[in-house]
Amino acid sequence: TEALKHGRTVEMFEAKRLANAAWELSLLARIDEGMRNGDIWLAYQPQWDYHEARLSGAEALIRWNDPVRGPIRPDEFILQAEQAGRIDALTYWVLDQAISAAERFNAFGPRFQISINLSAQLVDKPSLISSVADIVRRRGIDCRLLTIEVTETAGMCNRPAAIQNLMKLRAMGFRLSIDDFGTGEASLSYLAELPSDELKLDRRFVSKIVHHERERHIVASTINLAHALKQTVVAEGIEDLSTFELLRQLGCDVGQGYHISRPETLDQLIARYAALTKQGSTKLKSC
Ligand code: C2E
Ligand code: MG
Ligand code: MG
Ligand code: MG
Repeated sequence: TEALKHGRTVEMFEAKRLANAAWELSLLARIDEGMRNGDIWLAYQPQWDYHEARLSGAEALIRWNDPVRGPIRPDEFILQAEQAGRIDALTYWVLDQAISAAERFNAFGPRFQISINLSAQLVDKPSLISSVADIVRRRGIDCRLLTIEVTETAGMCNRPAAIQNLMKLRAMGFRLSIDDFGTGEASLSYLAELPSDELKLDRRFVSKIVHHERERHIVASTINLAHALKQTVVAEGIEDLSTFELLRQLGCDVGQGYHISRPETLDQLIARYAALTKQGSTKLKSC
């Protein structure tokens, strides 16, 4: 019976492995289909400008509700899309959607910035600039309304090529942001080498500043350093009022996090933003 039990376990394991392999094989097709049929969509998380006391932008965050698997976390399927060689199509789809969002937000009210995330896999590719330029030309958007976030944790294969590409994107008018700052191995060298306009303090530091002196000093010094380098500082992962207020005291420029708002659908956020603008203010009650 032991052998039988073992045989069944192996069989079950094998079935699961095959199912996973099949799922991964169909991943390419599923990504393409998801972009067409709405299974893949973008959530938008608003950003709060401390100086102007208003919502000044939003970050586009990709979502995938797979009909079979249910919601799949972005950090999981972005990695799979990278491995399947589909990250370029996905990224250009995100850019196109973000342009539409920027057009809708900027049709009324003051300037509203939309941020998108650029995979480190793509940032050094020679085709990046021509593909982005094609989309921009076709859509006729003012690139200054878009911010491109690059994560410093994921390794770029070819750093000189990445820097060249980022300089070209910046010359086109895009704002550049270093995402998850403080978590990578190369934080300071990134800050020294990469052309950038904005630095996003990682949630792992931000969430500790109220109760931990060390993280508070690190965040305070990073804000000062960033300002000396003419960077805008965005804090991500603000979950409560004390963190929100402490960041204001430390001189942080922009805040993002559940305390301000969770990521929402574009229609939800536009409706809320439009209502606030109509009232003559884009202030949130909680802020
Ligand atoms: P990220 O760019 O650092 O995005 C911030 C993440 O923190 C988002 O997770 C957001 O939902 C979450 N977050 C925001 N406020 C809070 C908060 O107050 N508390 C907590 N605990 N979390 C908060 P999400 O949406 O799961 O995205 C995870 C990562 O996936 C992103 O990190 C980004 O690196 C990647 N990603 C998302 N969309 C895209 C995309 O379109 N392209 C690429 N290449 N990567 C993307
Ligand atoms: Mg980001
Ligand atoms: Mg981040
Ligand atoms: Mg992150």
